[in-house]
Amino acid sequence: MALDESPSTLRRTFLQAGALATASAMTLSSGVQADDEPAPPLPTRPLGKTGVNVTMLDQGAVRGASLDRLFRTSFANGVRVFDTAKVYGTEPAFKKWFEQDPAIRKQIFLVTKDTPKAASQMIRMLDERLATLGTDYVDLFFIHGLGDHHSVDEAINFVKNNEFKEVAETIRKSGKAKFIGFSTHHPKRAAIIEAAAEGGVVDAIMLQYRPWLEKEEPLNKALDACWKKGIGLISMKQIAGQFFGDRPRGNILDEVEKRIPTLAEKKLSRFQGLLHAIWSDERISSVCVSMRNTDQIRENADAARRFEPLKAAEILQLRDATLAHGSMLCADCDGRCSIAAGTSAELGNLTRFLTYHQHLGDRVEARREYAALSAEARDWAGADLEAARAACPNKLDFAKLMPEVDRHLA
Ligand code: SF4
Repeated sequence: MALDESPSTLRRTFLQAGALATASAMTLSSGVQADDEPAPPLPTRPLGKTGVNVTMLDQGAVRGASLDRLFRTSFANGVRVFDTAKVYGTEPAFKKWFEQDPAIRKQIFLVTKDTPKAASQMIRMLDERLATLGTDYVDLFFIHGLGDHHSVDEAINFVKNNEFKEVAETIRKSGKAKFIGFSTHHPKRAAIIEAAAEGGVVDAIMLQYRPWLEKEEPLNKALDACWKKGIGLISMKQIAGQFFGDRPRGNILDEVEKRIPTLAEKKLSRFQGLLHAIWSDERISSVCVSMRNTDQIRENADAARRFEPLKAAEILQLRDATLAHGSMLCADCDGRCSIAAGTSAELGNLTRFLTYHQHLGDRVEARREYAALSAEARDWAGADLEAARAACPNKLDFAKLMPEVDRHLA
């Protein structure tokens, strides 16, 4: 399946993006001058067995007043996958974009999400999303954050049951969403993803991912199962913290350069190195990044165009540099931190929400998710935070992070 890439629309979109830029900022990105042709689409990969090739870079949701400019800048730099969701509040900006340039809709792969408790709610929810987006179809409709609003057993049953299968088929036949799937960052997402591979209903999954999965760990095996079944995989929330497109903090840049000299030789920044590490996993079709400004879009698009697989040793060096610098985000695993700490507090989720707040600019979402936790899940008093740190594969410094959680989110 090919997306509509008529040169006239490409040109128009590019010029509109240029017009929205300040008069002095004649260079949009990728070093492309306003008088030049827009950049061609970024390199693509098949999204599982959907028959669609998606760009390796996906413009994640960003809140702010200048979204239309951001969308156009991403598009002008070759990004063709755009991510939104009901809770982000960014869908109306797409509607505005489609109204201003109707040809765009067919040129992008549009993903939105909602939070059904049961499959029977999905058709109504999708209709609402389409009305808000101002389009009669999306390419991919995700159940948002599967596991957050269900128990793990409910989530596992959801992705395998007949009702979901029938609803997914009805939606695909209606053409209102070409493909169906879910996003998940749940600590037990390996089990949910494994079940989805068994169920064979979903077309794609967006997951919190890290590029240094151990061969035998459950998440890696679950991704293998999806790969074999032809379920497309999109990476999100890969590391966050200092890596997530932010300005260098402290000495992370020094740390990366010291430990991975080959990145500097390849003229890759730390975040570009991270993207290359993720793309080195051929199971991952696209990486969703909440790119918030022209510099981030340019840097990430440049990384996609210059992608060459990293060696396993380089990926491990990147892991070590990240851990050495002190990551803030719970990047994975089964919640062993809480068990080791002897607490019911969800330490991994608490650090994740803190990352949204501190590094991703998602302050409203961070507070909303924090508030949605039970009092028990928020209460880390009495937890053995040093034991939690020792158990955490990312060695998160909970003793430092938990007071920050209370300060910013409580
Ligand atoms: S141990 Fe670390 S990576 Fe695992 S859930 Fe806890 S914070 Fe997340």
